[in-house]
Amino acid sequence: MTTTANHTPDPTKAIDRTRLLIHGEWVDAADGAEFDVYNPSTGQVFTRVSEAGPEDVNRAVESSRKAFEEGPWRNMTPLDRSAALWRLGDLLLENADEIGRVETLDQGQPFSIARHGSVPSAARMFHYMSGWATKIEGNTIPISAGGDFHVYTRREPIGVVGCIVPWNFPLVIAAWKVAPALAAGNTVILKPAEQTPLTALMLGELALEAGIPPGVLNVIPGFGGRTGQTMTEHMGIDKISFTGSTTTGRRIVDASKGNLKRLSLELGGKSANIIFPDADIEAAIGGSANGIFFNAGQACAAGSRLYVHENVYDEVVAGIAEVAKNIKVGDGFDPTSEIGPLASAQHLDRVTGYLQSGVSEGARTVTGGTQIDTQGYYVAPTVFADAREDQKIVQEEIFGPVVVALKFTDTEEVVRAANRSAYGLAGGIWTKNISTAHKVAAQFQAGSVWVNCYQVFDPAMPFGGYKESGWGREMGHEVFNDYTQVKTVCVNLDT
Ligand code: NAD
Repeated sequence: MTTTANHTPDPTKAIDRTRLLIHGEWVDAADGAEFDVYNPSTGQVFTRVSEAGPEDVNRAVESSRKAFEEGPWRNMTPLDRSAALWRLGDLLLENADEIGRVETLDQGQPFSIARHGSVPSAARMFHYMSGWATKIEGNTIPISAGGDFHVYTRREPIGVVGCIVPWNFPLVIAAWKVAPALAAGNTVILKPAEQTPLTALMLGELALEAGIPPGVLNVIPGFGGRTGQTMTEHMGIDKISFTGSTTTGRRIVDASKGNLKRLSLELGGKSANIIFPDADIEAAIGGSANGIFFNAGQACAAGSRLYVHENVYDEVVAGIAEVAKNIKVGDGFDPTSEIGPLASAQHLDRVTGYLQSGVSEGARTVTGGTQIDTQGYYVAPTVFADAREDQKIVQEEIFGPVVVALKFTDTEEVVRAANRSAYGLAGGIWTKNISTAHKVAAQFQAGSVWVNCYQVFDPAMPFGGYKESGWGREMGHEVFNDYTQVKTVCVNLDT
């Protein structure tokens, strides 16, 4: 890969890496299968990528198992492992122009966001997790059994970890999983989403360049129902770390029971964002609009249910609608675009289905509500108001630039409403009252709560779901509970 400084990305330039990465080699699928990759900004196919089938999954598992058992990674000193991960973070930054270009082509996010948001964010994850490679420690434990015993725990890697990632932030979510899995000494098979397979392959290439040995990170693009399903059923994979829909999460739970593999599941959300009447209303409007419209709403933690106190309801709804109307939606390579298209034609159908359902169930469309009539998969940023709790647009994850506003009167009522969801991924609170902020944060049934801000992420902040939003945590030191297992060693000193 080559680096250029401050270049204007060329969408027509050929893609370098389109084959499977298994044991440090770029290979075709065993059956020669390939699939088309679409640019969501235009709806056009721009490349084809090898599609891993069951035989390729077997090859990847064999490679990752060998790399794990023979230990070029696990037995490397923690400091050397740390240095390789840091170097991988550096290489991501050095290649940010090209990685950003490919992410924009593949996913549709504006180039400025891919280049200056996604890539540095993935790099930060490798830098942060590289520090943990030297700090994964056990404990010494005083026990009361008769005799003189020395008891301690070791935190050991789990083995071969399959990482299955979605298409909304392809590189960033891959980094959330791969960085801690590798820091803990596991080997990884990464399966990107079929809609966005390319930056995962670039990550694999840079991992080799960073000195991470062959087989430690294999990358096998393919479809969920075939490649993903084969991985989750595979007896040679010890753990699956998955981000995606709750429906697929349930399938993964079923499919993984053969060898009772460990699971981390980061699933959907329908997060409540509450605006109290004493909030800084201007900040709440801006932050809440960004909390739903960023990445065209394709964010699991998006603040898609907006609860606004009756005293400020009209002002807030009008303010967010004004922001929505002024957002420039367009091709990821148009430097004026603030949000891009939805990631696939299939997803466009899903989101427009919800737009129709909002209207037919009686919500009021304040702005948007339509597909943008052009090539590519665009939807106008949409604000629905005066919605009812029983409507599909209030209960189900839309995963598009669509916010649903609901009015509330008192705090107890809004907390009950916010928690009336099968999901529990995140939530927002806007208030100047410190007591309201902390009390409501404690009552939220959600894995992350933002106060007077929304969607602030950092590698040091654990992230994951309550209820049907999943199992386990990404990021922070908590993530190592999910990528290590604890061994207790009990030594009789009276021998
Ligand atoms: P999905 O859950 O089906 O896909 C996510 C990943 O899982 C992809 O890599 C896919 O190939 C893989 N996958 C699919 N079926 C699988 C199976 N049976 N076994 C193993 N892996 C499998 O998501 P989707 O259908 O692309 O999107 C549907 C909805 O999911 C979205 O509209 C959105 O609501 C939600 N979603 C949530 C997130 C999130 O970050 N929580 C991300 C993407 C999608």
